Amino acid sequence: MNALRTAPPPAVRSRLPQVGTTIFSVMSALAQQHDAVNLGQGFPDFGCDPRLIDAVERAMRAGHNQYAPMPGVAALRERLAEKIAALHGRAYDPGQEITITAGATQAVFTALLAFTQPGDEVIVLEPAFDSYAPGIALVGARMVRVALDADFRPDFDALAAAITPRTRLILTNTPHNPSGTIWSAQDLDRLHALLAPTDILLLSDEVYEHMVYDGRAHASAAGHPGLAARSVVISSFGKTYHVTGWKIGSVAAPAELSAEFRKVHQFNVFAVSSAVQQGLAEHLRDPAPYRELSAFYQAKRDRFRDGLAATPLRLRPCEGSYFQVVDYGGLRPELAALDEEALARWMTREIGVTAIPMSAFYADGRQRQQIRFCFAKRDDTLDRALDRLARL
Ligand code: GLN
Repeated sequence: MNALRTAPPPAVRSRLPQVGTTIFSVMSALAQQHDAVNLGQGFPDFGCDPRLIDAVERAMRAGHNQYAPMPGVAALRERLAEKIAALHGRAYDPGQEITITAGATQAVFTALLAFTQPGDEVIVLEPAFDSYAPGIALVGARMVRVALDADFRPDFDALAAAITPRTRLILTNTPHNPSGTIWSAQDLDRLHALLAPTDILLLSDEVYEHMVYDGRAHASAAGHPGLAARSVVISSFGKTYHVTGWKIGSVAAPAELSAEFRKVHQFNVFAVSSAVQQGLAEHLRDPAPYRELSAFYQAKRDRFRDGLAATPLRLRPCEGSYFQVVDYGGLRPELAALDEEALARWMTREIGVTAIPMSAFYADGRQRQQIRFCFAKRDDTLDRALDRLARL
């Protein structure tokens, strides 16, 4: 045996001692192992618009294969600025105020790096997407958790009470992962009233912006006349165009904030795929794909909810995003007694459907008997999952 091979690596002190592998990878691997219908990790199981592939291919063949400009391909930033102006009425300068990122998770992390100093406080509403807490820990800031209420709505009194002179940033997410709730324009007004007397920044994760149901409208921080000036608004092409694997997103923020964001972005990413950006710029000329997205996903939501209604799972409202939360307290007692991860594992193994335990989105380890399904799936996939869930 080669001694060099058996020598252990030098010990490292973990930056994230409490963190294991993200639940999304864990549950996707488990789904694969058991050949389960994977309604866990949020990603579509259907293809994107072939015109988008064609546009990217054309861009590659046309020679867009070297570094893109650091803040992103100009044409893509211009199309985005036009889109935000048309939808939300705020004119971002594509030259100074829009940056293309390697997905929304990177955008959140880069914003945390750019805008916080060690020891600053960052307010997060719980439950929250699982990358926020490790991101905040890695930048040396302190995460201040404020619970959403039992209906997953913001509690503005609790938010007000959480603000201190050390609060630097508040991280919000609408439409909300995991709960599927959305913030109303009035919610943004109330948030603005809280933040107006402070210098707290708003980091607004809006990656599910084009999935809002029942005639509701997405209330973007970009469209709020007061909030926009302090907001860093994050979007995701992966979510909107069914290409989560391309890992490409964007950030809109006033010039001073964008300049700081770019200082960090240029040294941890520099620039993202030039051909993909060129292809997206072309594809964005047509507003139909994002205009039609809510109706497309609403039909899937309804199909999935109708099927679930026949099971002992209790449905939570779903106003936006492609997630559906259910309570499993009504299952037979030995199942209802399982903790969320155990239930999700059992369901993968025994029923053949995978979900995400809601405990993954909380720090407190409390069990609420809730799991999250993703319904961004082909209708036949949803039907197959529902057939199996009927055995519950
Ligand atoms: N956003 C997706 C979800 O919540 C997946 C993200 C990921 O796998 N990192 O399921």
